[in-house]
Amino acid sequence: MKNISIMIKPASSLCNLSCEYCFYEDVSSKRAMSSCGVMKRETANKIIDNVLSCLNDMDAVSFVFQGGEPTLAGLPFFLHFTEEVEKKKGSVLVNYAIQTNGILIDKSWCRFFKSNNFLVGISQDILPEVHDKYRKDTNGSDTYERVNAARKALLSYGVEYNILSVLTNDLAKEPEKVWDYLCRENIGYTQFIPCLGKIEGEKKSCRLNPCSFAGFYSHLFFLWAKAFKAGKYRSIKLFDDLINLLAYGKQTACGITGKCSPQFVVEADGRVFPCDFYALDEYCIGNLACENVEDIYNKAAKSSFITRDDAEADFCCRCPYLKICHGGCLRMRKEVCGFDGENECGYRLFLDNCLPELQQIIHSILN
Ligand code: SF4
Ligand code: SF4
Repeated sequence: MKNISIMIKPASSLCNLSCEYCFYEDVSSKRAMSSCGVMKRETANKIIDNVLSCLNDMDAVSFVFQGGEPTLAGLPFFLHFTEEVEKKKGSVLVNYAIQTNGILIDKSWCRFFKSNNFLVGISQDILPEVHDKYRKDTNGSDTYERVNAARKALLSYGVEYNILSVLTNDLAKEPEKVWDYLCRENIGYTQFIPCLGKIEGEKKSCRLNPCSFAGFYSHLFFLWAKAFKAGKYRSIKLFDDLINLLAYGKQTACGITGKCSPQFVVEADGRVFPCDFYALDEYCIGNLACENVEDIYNKAAKSSFITRDDAEADFCCRCPYLKICHGGCLRMRKEVCGFDGENECGYRLFLDNCLPELQQIIHSILN
């Protein structure tokens, strides 16, 4: 049975915030057309047709909406999309998820998410002082309180949600406060993505450095492990990914073994890119509004982006984790692994600190 995931950007790179570290604003600014505006309904219909036509009964598809800010496409767009899917899906299993900054979330959105079983990812940097330093609106105003209100609204409507935080050096200094917050607010699932430098050009001052990565995750890991052993499991994506890899041989994060896997990142005009971090004109692999999924997937697997031969850093050759890591995700190598002349790998430092305890936990899970 097939199980595919299609990431859709219904509002392209449009956003109602102006976060200092936005990687999509950076990457889209390198394209001939940085934003292609809001997805037309005809484009959405064709995408739905092309996706569903490659699936049989009991196959599954996840439509994952991202941006920019996807809610800028408007609730009527999403109502149309889900109604079209409902009309056409037959016995195909359909899941929905959305990553949002929360600014537009109100009761109507909450009702919509609940009635269509959306999993909602809220972008929130956990601590108000860190969030408001980087996540300003287009007028330069703070946004933490508005995002927190959106999170509480989702909670009150029983919408399943999780938190996506950007790991800046500022947030990395506060693992205890982060853990306290996750426990206090009972956040079941959290993902941290490294604050990335620009795809090319000068370093951003907020860019995560490998030592901050290692310090944050090592400290957080021991807090997490203590709770885990006391029977209180809380999902932190990096720890889950490592358990999936080391215990079951499953890759649940792109790049965790140093290889890019082709993804379907669909811009508002239907163009498809193999990776969200590299949605650049030169890597466009087709258009899902006029080509079928299999043809695009075949092009993705052969695309110059996926098949390129890229080397690990010299220090990887001497690393005991080379076989499981191979330099990790291409886009995060500078921030996490120090591939920028730092000569110190944050992932290696983290594994040095935490792998023995993680292996004990894996042993207990498997037995
Ligand atoms: S750059 Fe990272 S996220 Fe993108 S395809 Fe490669 S490994 Fe995956
Ligand atoms: S040095 Fe870092 S990036 Fe290289 S193999 Fe080791 S853990 Fe991976």
